[in-house]
Amino acid sequence: MSKLIVEHMVLGRLENNCYYLHKEGETEAIMVDPSTKANVIYDTLKEKGLTLKAILITHGHFDHFMAVNELKEMFEGVTVYAGAKESVLLEDPSMNHSILIGKPYVVKTDVPVKDGDEITVGSMKCKVIETPGHSVGGVCYYFEEDDVLISGDTLFFESVGRTDFPTGNAGELRMSITEKLYKLPDNTSVYPGHGDATSIGHEKVYNPFCCIV
Ligand SMILES: [Zn+2]
Repeated sequence: MSKLIVEHMVLGRLENNCYYLHKEGETEAIMVDPSTKANVIYDTLKEKGLTLKAILITHGHFDHFMAVNELKEMFEGVTVYAGAKESVLLEDPSMNHSILIGKPYVVKTDVPVKDGDEITVGSMKCKVIETPGHSVGGVCYYFEEDDVLISGDTLFFESVGRTDFPTGNAGELRMSITEKLYKLPDNTSVYPGHGDATSIGHEKVYNPFCCIV
């Protein structure tokens, strides 16, 4: 089993982590939350000899998906995955806040996913974990074989996502983190939508908003 490589670029004025994942020695790539600047993403992937096969969206805030439609045109046969319940944000520029920056933007998901669904791209495999709270249909993507979690804006390095946007819910966010994410092994690497990477074990001890130790 070859190793999963997780790389990222920081794009957009909200400094989003746009992750791209591929197996060592393989060319098929997954992009998570392509924030903006599709041309930069395209050039980066091409330079590395990677072919984009799938886009995974963690949730429907504009800063996580405004390069999706362009990337779908640039690469052939890209499948877009997002939480089924998140279409209320993804398909509504007021709900996803793209209207606030004067660039109304909507995305249609190819494959709406729900809790427990498995996504396979090349030899990469991940499981969908529904984590409502930051938004109603937000999900995390768990690459179990590789001990990797892509956490979107649910769990950050020593912080958590805000819950004051439409469909946010502080109680649900706490439940998502403590009842779902903290059940993953401590050595799981956590890659959030903004800021530094962390691990489940670190957050259980040091997260001031969701500490259970
Ligand atoms: Zn967000």
